[in-house]
Amino acid sequence: MKRIVFLFSMMIMFLCWGQNIVDNRLNFRTAGSAYRLKGKILQVNFFVSCPGYPVWTMDQKNEIMELLPEGTGWLKKEAARYGQPIDFKFKNYGYKTDIISNSTPHDVDNPFWQNDLIKQLGYPSMMDFYNELKRNNDFDQVYVVFFINREGVSYANLTDRDYVKENKDSFLETAILFNQFEGKSLVGKGERYTLPHEILHLFGALDLYEGDDQSAYSEDVAIQKIPNSIMLGSVRFLDEDEPQYELPEYKIDEFTAYFLSLHHEYKKWYKTLSNKCKTENSE
Ligand SMILES: [Zn+2]
Repeated sequence: MKRIVFLFSMMIMFLCWGQNIVDNRLNFRTAGSAYRLKGKILQVNFFVSCPGYPVWTMDQKNEIMELLPEGTGWLKKEAARYGQPIDFKFKNYGYKTDIISNSTPHDVDNPFWQNDLIKQLGYPSMMDFYNELKRNNDFDQVYVVFFINREGVSYANLTDRDYVKENKDSFLETAILFNQFEGKSLVGKGERYTLPHEILHLFGALDLYEGDDQSAYSEDVAIQKIPNSIMLGSVRFLDEDEPQYELPEYKIDEFTAYFLSLHHEYKKWYKTLSNKCKTENSE
């Protein structure tokens, strides 16, 4: 009898194995100030320019201001498809006059340039800035988006559990959005997915194209299974003449939604897309 129970539990363990791996990874990535895509969300926007580069014009800033409700409106609509109500509020810094960064964003010599920028504003640390936001605003989740008036590859500084333990200042999660990428404007029709894509990273979403999160094989699986995923970005359009998707054509796909805990119906192929995602238990 004992043996049957043992075999039975081994069988259950085997059946749940893939799901456990995905769930562990999911739980590992849910840390920081943008913990879950739910509830009242505060997006703090900074208009930043860099020495030697032009400052933002008011027209450019207003184009970004139009991007904000569009991107977060899309997120709201997509979360609602999974039954999750969310709401966004904005707080803006540097709208009237740019904040000039003394250091270069995404400089390999200074990965913590945003901490320096916050210090420039008079806060001893990112945590002090977070605490002041918390005192003065009603929110469940918060993150900061730095809009930089120069060319670059936009990215997200999401945090995981170990990283928050090591570096308390990483608790406040940030995204860096550059005004131009390979000559294309952030507010161009084909690029307007970038803002919600980076925001989803902060809530734990993985990239679905080949890179840190995916192999060439798993990218292929993603393209087959969930071709409209916003986390695939524009990867399908790089070698093709067809026009890129515009934001409404993108989706929060079912894998990303599972990873963000928007639904709980695990499917086997989800494991393939989370294989490269690191946790404390994986190499
Ligand atoms: Zn990405």
